[in-house]
Amino acid sequence: MSYLPVVVIGAGPAGLSIAYELQKFGIDYLVLEASNSVAKTFHDMTHQTTYGPWVNNLLRGTTWDVWGRFYRLLARTTRSEYAEYLEQYAQRLQLHIRLNSPVQSVAWADGAYRVQTAEGEYQAAAVVNCAGYFATPYTPTYPGSDTTRIQQIHTSTYRSPASVGKLIGDRGKVLIVGKKLSAGETLSELSAAGFETAISTRSTIEYWPDIWKETLRSPFILVDEWVRRRLDLGRPEHLKPKMRLKEHGGTIRNGQTRVFPEIQEIKENSVVFQDGSEETFDLIIYGTGYQGNFGHLAGLKLPSLTRGEAPSVRQLESTELPNLFFVGLIGGGSFRSEFLRGIREDAEKVGEVIQSRARFAPIPMSRPTGEASS
Ligand SMILES: Cc1cc2nc3c(=O)[nH]c(=O)nc-3n(C[C@H](O)[C@H](O)[C@H](O)COP(=O)(O)OP(=O)(O)OC[C@H]3O[C@@H](n4cnc5c(N)ncnc54)[C@H](O)[C@@H]3O)c2cc1C
Repeated sequence: MSYLPVVVIGAGPAGLSIAYELQKFGIDYLVLEASNSVAKTFHDMTHQTTYGPWVNNLLRGTTWDVWGRFYRLLARTTRSEYAEYLEQYAQRLQLHIRLNSPVQSVAWADGAYRVQTAEGEYQAAAVVNCAGYFATPYTPTYPGSDTTRIQQIHTSTYRSPASVGKLIGDRGKVLIVGKKLSAGETLSELSAAGFETAISTRSTIEYWPDIWKETLRSPFILVDEWVRRRLDLGRPEHLKPKMRLKEHGGTIRNGQTRVFPEIQEIKENSVVFQDGSEETFDLIIYGTGYQGNFGHLAGLKLPSLTRGEAPSVRQLESTELPNLFFVGLIGGGSFRSEFLRGIREDAEKVGEVIQSRARFAPIPMSRPTGEASS
């Protein structure tokens, strides 16, 4: 069993940021990544997904020579650009990452963590969980979900209109469930490609401002968030994910996309809604978000996870076990902890805590004496 001061789980933006912070302090670590690439979440998103401006999304450790001119900082980040950026980031900084190494379980024994992967076990004094939210899609079930002949997928497996065409033909009828960003992106792509679309939501659809307005506002938003964090004023409205009127809601506004209330029942070829209306569909796409991704931590028997809740943390560290950190966790450090700009500041904090514990030895830099390696 190899000993490492720190094992990091997941090589998304959070895992890479932590790796950068630890490397900066000369702390030995290894990032274990389940998939065959860094930035898996970004490779997998729908083609159309864009992110806020680069100024919000660049990680600490990024150099000007790579991300160049100042004006680019206000340009929006596309999904594929961001995936490429993360790969270059990992390569340029020579971060220690082991791909294709899903962490199967983590246990706590004799004051250390035992991290199990298919290829072997690691012993670590600290674990930073950066396994993200996008590995466990949430799909609601309705009466008839299991027996219907209508095909059903989650937005996490939706790729493009062409992939939907393969499933149901080019002129199929699609119901999208949800009203947030993923639902909006999927809806606009499919409507533009000529599919007949409908949307089912539990409550009124709300919209984010136009992209150009958001871009102009972004420097002020950063200041607003900074003040809110300092004064503990809570989560601002602009961080609640919504679709955009112009980009995603055009066909809703002009009536081309019909809007239905929540699903009541799914029959063999049709869907019955809460208002009693019934429609036939060829495909249902659930844009219903994700559940926390903590299955690999079950062996730690954290009371919060056992109760089915998110891990209990204070300042990004578990309140239930020492030296167990969570970066990218909703509400972990602040109201923006699950966003890229929150991740970069939280990673810095966790790096500093681990560095001070490494310096004063609660996190030993080498295998504690008296322990044999196996
Ligand atoms: C449609 C959409 C739009 C978004 N827009 C924005 C935006 O504009 N701005 C913004 O800041 N954020 C946005 N987000 C959120 C953004 O994607 C997250 O902030 C970011 O991906 C979180 O990074 P992460 O490293 O915490 O998690 P992830 O990027 O999900 O990375 C987690 C990594 O952990 C790996 N992993 C999982 N389980 C294991 C395991 N057991 N063992 C080993 N590895 C494991 C996964 O393979 C993955 O590579 C958006 C998300 C979506 C879905």
